[in-house]
Parts: sequence; C-alpha cells; structure tokens
Amino acid sequence: MKYGREKHHEMFLGVTNIVKPKHPYVDSPYPIDKSQLHTTWKKSTSYSWAHCGPRKPKYKGFLITYAIDLKYFNSQSIERVLCIINHELTHITEGSHTKGSAHNPAFWNQVVENAKIIIDKKEQVEEIIGEFSTEMFIHEVWNEPNNSMTDGRIEKPDARRSKMKVELEGYGQ
Ligand SMILES: [Zn+2]
Repeated sequence: MKYGREKHHEMFLGVTNIVKPKHPYVDSPYPIDKSQLHTTWKKSTSYSWAHCGPRKPKYKGFLITYAIDLKYFNSQSIERVLCIINHELTHITEGSHTKGSAHNPAFWNQVVENAKIIIDKKEQVEEIIGEFSTEMFIHEVWNEPNNSMTDGRIEKPDARRSKMKVELEGYGQ
C-alpha cells in the first residue's frame, strides 16, 4: 500500500460514516464530511501509530480529531489498517473522555461491536478501502490487546484477547 495522507483520511472517514460510532457531543452527526475532520499527524518515533477522539463542534465545527503515522500505515496489510481504523473510530465513543482509561473494558467491547458492523457491511466498506479478508481482519482485531493497551488494574491482555477471539471467530463466514 502506498497511499497519501489524504487517501488514508478519506478511508477513515468513509468507514466511520458506515459504522456511525456514538458521538458524545452530537446526537446524529453522520455523515461527517471532510471539513469536520480535524487532522494532525503522528511521527514514526511515536509510541502509537494513530490517535483519534471526538471534538466539541463549537471549536471550528470539528467533530473528530484524527492523526496517523503515514509510514506505519503504508507498511501494513489492508486488514491491519482496517483494524486500526476500527480501533480509532471506537475512540469517538469510548476513550480517555469516558470513564476509566483509554482502553478500558467498555472500549474493547465496543471494538468488537464495531468490527461486526464492518463485517455486516463488508460490501460498502470495500467500496471505500478495497477488498479485504474477513478472516484476517478478525484475527487482527482479537489479537490487538496487549500490555500497553489494556487497563492492567482491571484485566489481563490474555483474558481480553481470548474473550474477543470467542466473540469474533467465524463471524460472518
Ligand atoms: Zn487506542
């Protein structure tokens, strides 16, 4: 994959408009257009490859902030990129602005629900990002929780991965 930043932003927005994650500050924001997406960037030296969160529209009308590490995105498979898009759009609903830490149990539960929507609406999603393997996408999603990405005070990454695997394996196939 060798896409420009603009194309990656379009892919994120397109998938977000299909999944329609609950927005904490606006009741029915979808479809969200380009002018409502506030974009910055992540450096390759950063500890994470993307960042996303909801915005209050009173600030220049932006509804979402989104930032990616372009080099990292272009070095990954489409299924991995879709997994990150799903992770990031879930932060519109669940994250540091909600109770607990950014990757709390409610966040991971919502990741699973949103991944199911992507699989249910696979044809629409493929119009935006191109063809992808449902099986490989599912594998990327349940395999993601790790030590730096689960709230260690509440749950162990292994337990969360197993739970997500049970919930997703074979879905839509
Ligand atoms: Zn995150």
